[in-house]
Amino acid sequence: MMKLLPTSTAGSLPKPSWLSEPEKLWSPWKLENDALVEGKQDAMRVTLAEQQRAGIDIVSDGEQTRQHFVTTFIEHLSGVDFEKRETVRIRDRYDASVPTVAGTVSREKPVFVEDAKFLRGQTNAPIKWALPGPMTMIDTLYDAHYKSREKLAWEFATILNQEARELEAAGVDIIQFDEPAFNVFFDEVNDWGIATLERAIEGLKCKTAVHICYGYGIKANTDWKKTLGSEWRQYEETFPKLQKSNIDLISLECHNSHVPIDLIELIRGKNVMVGAIDVASNAIETPEEVAATLRKALQFVDADKLYPCTNCGMAPLSRTVARGKLDALSAGAEIVRKELAAQKTAA
Ligand SMILES: [Zn+2]
Repeated sequence: MMKLLPTSTAGSLPKPSWLSEPEKLWSPWKLENDALVEGKQDAMRVTLAEQQRAGIDIVSDGEQTRQHFVTTFIEHLSGVDFEKRETVRIRDRYDASVPTVAGTVSREKPVFVEDAKFLRGQTNAPIKWALPGPMTMIDTLYDAHYKSREKLAWEFATILNQEARELEAAGVDIIQFDEPAFNVFFDEVNDWGIATLERAIEGLKCKTAVHICYGYGIKANTDWKKTLGSEWRQYEETFPKLQKSNIDLISLECHNSHVPIDLIELIRGKNVMVGAIDVASNAIETPEEVAATLRKALQFVDADKLYPCTNCGMAPLSRTVARGKLDALSAGAEIVRKELAAQKTAA
């Protein structure tokens, strides 16, 4: 059995400066071909060591294996033309030049399976691996073939399921799907978003997670957050249906956010990865601040279902800040673990 309040991160961690330019989101690789393969493996060794030194219980590749959390996966599929680009509005928030779906999409070879096998060979700790979710994938493409967001999402769900089954076989313990789009397209989430996610996890025996956040601390996101008012109730739209879904864990943004913490009651019974680290700020939380967020969440999540986590990925932060935040997460979780143990003794 895993220890109480096992810590993990939502996704990305900073890359070493020899692999890509630091403190920059979606920074291009500095290496090529075999040197890149070796560089990614070395970066996985480094990020693993940093997570373990900080006492993070459920480790990951820190997304050292990808340039972009969605595009890198899509680059490996056929049917998407990266030369043919169109400008589309992403998550209803910002315009971006994106590749075009020009034919039937398919996965002809595994995408991250070799990377996952490599990480599995480096540690006995539980591993969480992130993949983009179907709805977030379709939202970063121009579709000239299926001409239906739903149809394309079902195609990607099938492809994601193929990849997920092989990641499971490679020894991954938790497969996470990143669905920031779940915070934007509520009708679609309820009509087919959760259904396509359940298709992506079909037949898996390992644990599954969905990460729903308010994004990295980039300007498009912080500007959008300013329009959301003082209370962020987006989760309220999707939680009732997520609660009834087959997904095991739900990863949320909680620290320094305007999400009313009592919304977590709507997913009572699920395992919840509670974001207790703000990724949009360079200020390193104190362990006590982390503990305070976890204590609030404990009103709505049973202790054996609470997974202390970060709000989102930390790729754009400096390595020093990210290390400090990992340490704070561990220390904050330990404070609350001790309190829970003391309560148990007293009872
Ligand atoms: Zn996120």
